[in-house]
Amino acid sequence: MELPFAESFRIKMVETIRKSTREEREKWIKEAKYNLFNLKSDQVFIDLLTDSGTGAMSDKQWAELMLGDESYAGARSYYKMKNTIREILGFDYFLPTHQGRAAENVLYSTLIKEGDILPGNSHFDTTKGHIEFRKAIALDCTIDEAADTQLEIPFKGNMDPAKLEAVLKKYPKEKIPAVVLTVTNNTAGGQPVSMQNIREVSALCKKYGVNLQIDSARFAENAYFIKTREKGYEHKTIKEIVKEMFSYADIMTMSSKKDAIVNMGGFVAFKNEELWKKCQMFCIMNEGFITYGGMSGRDMNALAQGLDEGTEFEYLETRIRQVEYLGAKLDEYGIPYQRPAGGHAIFVDAKKVLTHVPKEEFIAQTLGIELYLEAGIRGVEIGSILADRDPVTRENRYPKLELLRLAIPRRTYTNNHMDVIAAALKNVFDRREQIDRGYVITKEFPIMRHFTVELEPAQ
Ligand SMILES: *Cc1c(COP(=O)(O)O)cnc(C)c1O
Repeated sequence: MELPFAESFRIKMVETIRKSTREEREKWIKEAKYNLFNLKSDQVFIDLLTDSGTGAMSDKQWAELMLGDESYAGARSYYKMKNTIREILGFDYFLPTHQGRAAENVLYSTLIKEGDILPGNSHFDTTKGHIEFRKAIALDCTIDEAADTQLEIPFKGNMDPAKLEAVLKKYPKEKIPAVVLTVTNNTAGGQPVSMQNIREVSALCKKYGVNLQIDSARFAENAYFIKTREKGYEHKTIKEIVKEMFSYADIMTMSSKKDAIVNMGGFVAFKNEELWKKCQMFCIMNEGFITYGGMSGRDMNALAQGLDEGTEFEYLETRIRQVEYLGAKLDEYGIPYQRPAGGHAIFVDAKKVLTHVPKEEFIAQTLGIELYLEAGIRGVEIGSILADRDPVTRENRYPKLELLRLAIPRRTYTNNHMDVIAAALKNVFDRREQIDRGYVITKEFPIMRHFTVELEPAQ
């Protein structure tokens, strides 16, 4: 018979996690003001809040920590990271930063002026934050199909070249410091961008003389989808595909907490030496000297090792098949989610589950709380709490989609955990008709309210 699939690693260190009772969870979530961010991690059994910095490092990465060179300037660890970035990603120049948003800060402090336009495919929230904070505009040019959760297409994260070209035509290139292509497209559900799309976007950038920046947090997962879904790439290695992807880019920003499988770290890399030099000042001012940025030597070592491991097919296959496994379980139970399953997470379509909860009472948040109460599983709301209020009218914004994101940390949980997650969701799904009230806000910050918002049950 055909052999079943199994993980391409074995486990040599474990961390105990603790189950809890429903009574305990009812008390804890109330104390947390019904905000999942306020829970202590010990109050959570399976933590799917994020896949950022929550993965398990390998034995080789831990060994690299011991080899870290903590010299202030010119450390061996810096050169290890530099060589790896050149070899695997094809960039000659880079600046280390403490995480992805810091790379954005260094780059955009140099590039963006008020009134600039940065077209992209659903900019990541911190990216958008850094753009809008500088009074520039993040213009979304994602393909329309991304908004239909039930549509199965292989590259749902793509940028729409026609939408992009309209923007590039309308504004002078001096107003467009970069086009931002995010791979994979997190906001659209961890959906990949095809090589053909990267090529088309790059050709448009060249035609109009603007930079192409790839926001690269999950570039390796994107390469896996290109290999398994795009014609002509099935026989290429992940490393060959990654090289080609970045051959079209001028700049990359990286949150290494994702596909470089470290707990902290990031960088911004350049093809152009001049731009690298211009960005150095902001790196020194905000992060640290240019050969360590915001990172320790040992962390740069672990990051370099992680880039190498993270671009191996067996690792990626194990990771993405686990997400698919969870998706298949939800299919079995008829639970709707953004299709097809993404690279790093399942996004449950909360509006299709909790049909009786009014949108004013935060549907995806309500589903997140129900899942926590059911089994101590923590996801995160991607819905109207996150969408925040309109900056002018101060009215709540209600996005088309109310999603509960279940992000799967790398190399951390087993498929037994996936079974528990799916069963817990099924139990909530089975009693969905009885859930007809959600939550109301009692306290919130004027921006980025989702992290600290306080809620109470609606009556
Ligand atoms: C996580 C992420 C960032 C920000 O990185 P941090 O390390 O969290 O600061 C930027 N862009 C994308 C696509 C991300 O996934």
